[in-house]
Amino acid sequence: MIPEKVQESLTLALLGKVREMKARGEDVVSFAAGEPDFDTPSFIIEEATRSMKAGNTRYVASQGQPNLREAIATDYRERLASKWVTPANIVVTGGAKQGLYLLMDVIMEPGDEALIPVPYWVSYPSIVKSVSGVAKPLACQEANGYFPTAAELEAAYTPKTKILLFSSPGNPSGTMIRETQLKEIIDWCAKRKVYLLYDELYERLVLSPERKHISALSLVDESASEYVFAINACSKTMAMTGWRLGWIAGHPENIKRLTAIQSQMVTCFPGFIQDAAAKGLREAEGFLEPIVKAYRARRDLILTGINSIPGLKCIKPDGAFYLFVDVSAVIQKKGWADEKDFAAKILESERVVVVPGGSMGMKGWVRLSFATSEEEIKMGIERFRRFCD
Ligand code: PMP
Ligand code: GLU
Repeated sequence: MIPEKVQESLTLALLGKVREMKARGEDVVSFAAGEPDFDTPSFIIEEATRSMKAGNTRYVASQGQPNLREAIATDYRERLASKWVTPANIVVTGGAKQGLYLLMDVIMEPGDEALIPVPYWVSYPSIVKSVSGVAKPLACQEANGYFPTAAELEAAYTPKTKILLFSSPGNPSGTMIRETQLKEIIDWCAKRKVYLLYDELYERLVLSPERKHISALSLVDESASEYVFAINACSKTMAMTGWRLGWIAGHPENIKRLTAIQSQMVTCFPGFIQDAAAKGLREAEGFLEPIVKAYRARRDLILTGINSIPGLKCIKPDGAFYLFVDVSAVIQKKGWADEKDFAAKILESERVVVVPGGSMGMKGWVRLSFATSEEEIKMGIERFRRFCD
């Protein structure tokens, strides 16, 4: 048998389980889904169909089609204040996940370490493990939005540290990094020659109007970008999770090396999907406004509802669509073992699905996705209230 390197993704396993329960007609309220409940905008689907019918069904450039890379680069320059980004700074990937995998595979030798601030997206440690690296969770301060300071990074650094990896807006925290924090981290990475993998998958889903997403590439010049990578995808912001289309942005020499591997590993990603993504990116602002508004209303609803339940404490999410909830007081009061026990019991007695936080580095916490309808959120809050009583 081949080695069993990692376990199946917990979030994907839960998504599959919920799908089966719903297909059986079970009365389940799911807060598990890390994917938008909105459909892909129809003009994007039409563009994919048009492109396919026009014959864009053959191999295309391994780096990604020029029109898509141009649309991505334009977006970096115009919206994300990253003035130097051109199509030469972009390589197309199979979603953000393949981009992360690709980077880790290239950068890490067996035994090398990746620093992962806690709480983290469930797959980060597994991806590190699958390339024979060592994931090192890094505890950070709540007051810093769970992002590391240079001093915390320095204390965790060893000569084997090769990668620092986190997302902003955060999954599961929903916190967003501030410019001064990101600048400090970028400077530390350059000093220590540690590659920053800055996962900005949820960057367009900013829920607190007073907050702004800062792109890592806006804080360095091209010549100083050797240790910085931005990872992004159409998945969450354009409701295109199943299309598997993402990208990495960075220094052109690094991009060339990544492209060479893509040419050996995946050849390319479907041209008709790239045409559709390019159109979606160019017209994103128009359809995103009502979607962000809906997520904002859901955030307010779930935050107020869950916070009003005695014993529960949440992090206010400024971005993305997750609420991270400290349920440790309830676990203690009821004499349960841990948050996995909490998740199993709330599923059994209330038919509510949550993701246990231990898988994200924080025991005693659970993650609730609010990429679901207001009705379901209201129902879920009532079930939570009854359950925690
Ligand atoms: N990064 C984060 C923070 C995520 O939540 C996810 C989950 N979708 C991914 C990366 C992977 O995204 P994709 O579906 O584009 O591979
Ligand atoms: N990223 C989503 C989540 O955190 C689901 C998809 C996945 O895990 O790859 O739930």
